[in-house]
Amino acid sequence: MSLYQSFGVDPIINACGSVTRLGGAPMSPEVLKAFQEAASEWVPLEQLQAAASKKIAAHTGAEAGLVTSGAAGALTLGTAAILAGHNMRRIEQLPHCDEFPHEFIIAREQRSGYDHAVRAAGARLVEVGFNEIVSNAGVRRTESWEYAAAITENTAGIVYVHAADSQPALPEVVEVARQHQLPVLVDAAGELPPRDNLKAILATGADLVVFSGGKAIRGPQSTGLLCGKRELISSAALQMLDMDDHFELWQPPADLIDTSLFQGLPRHGIGRALKVSKEEIIALLTALELFASGAYDEQNQEFQSWLEMIGEELELAQVHATCYLATPVSNERWPLLDIHIDEEAVGTAFKVCQRLRQGTPPIYVGHAGLHEGMLTINPLCLTAQDARTLAVRLCEELK
Ligand SMILES: *Cc1c(COP(=O)(O)O)cnc(C)c1O
Repeated sequence: MSLYQSFGVDPIINACGSVTRLGGAPMSPEVLKAFQEAASEWVPLEQLQAAASKKIAAHTGAEAGLVTSGAAGALTLGTAAILAGHNMRRIEQLPHCDEFPHEFIIAREQRSGYDHAVRAAGARLVEVGFNEIVSNAGVRRTESWEYAAAITENTAGIVYVHAADSQPALPEVVEVARQHQLPVLVDAAGELPPRDNLKAILATGADLVVFSGGKAIRGPQSTGLLCGKRELISSAALQMLDMDDHFELWQPPADLIDTSLFQGLPRHGIGRALKVSKEEIIALLTALELFASGAYDEQNQEFQSWLEMIGEELELAQVHATCYLATPVSNERWPLLDIHIDEEAVGTAFKVCQRLRQGTPPIYVGHAGLHEGMLTINPLCLTAQDARTLAVRLCEELK
């Protein structure tokens, strides 16, 4: 019996990838070993975060960094840092910030449920641009002058969601922000691989960049990275770390928190609810090392062979579906298998997806293309045995 079954929960086959809903990315044996070893000793967390900052800086080219509770936690902390800096009154007031600039400009087309993490710190989002291409009412996307035109004395910063085709390009937005001495907070949670993005996004001059630790980096799914300007990371650390000490004794590493900026010891900040454990910090740093070194790349060949096998099995079984194996150009990425199903013959993709989830074992496939009649197989969280089971179940459902 699996551990989860002993708690009354059936494990699933995850053909969906590193999604949070299903438990995140697989952790390598090195990462798990580091997690376990880290649990057997104790360290002051401010010292550990200061050491993490140096590692993160080395991998990203940022001045400093922080291990956070997911990219979402990093967005809240980054926003809190921009809003409050080292102002003790503001730190205490968050998320209430009527007394000081608290508006963040964001392109309307970049809004998503994740910006709740920015609003959670107290920021108010001010939208610019339209979504005219989606509404089929125009041909232009957001333009950088629209950010400039929206800046007022209430503006605290700009939030930018990074994607390969984001418009306007990040350097243009950073330029507008520079001209008005405003910080830019970039959500790049899922923008790895390519590995280059660890450095390239910060190299645009963005003040803070957020990455998820539980996606391609394959750290604990509850972790993330906040990296960028030293002062802002310092404020974020201060608002996250536990503050239950005496001012006379408080000696955080000076490169993380400069105590001379304070007249007393701040209370727990808004980020105290977003704490990370020593084990999570060590595990994420171990995973970051593996990711950045390219250690995960060699597994992509194996992933490819599993998807080829599934495609061949489906073809042999003459199922009511056509497979398309998308082999990536870069060896940093793993392939995906798209299965276009004949909905007349076997029911809608939604129905097939549901039958797979309700089967034994439950199987969760990628569901981004259901409206187009397509299932996607992401091999990241599969084992060789899972891949065989998946092939059998797909043949049954698509026959
Ligand atoms: C996944 C994701 C997040 C959240 O990341 P977590 O590490 O799960 O908190 C935020 N923003 C975007 C764009 C994402 O894709």
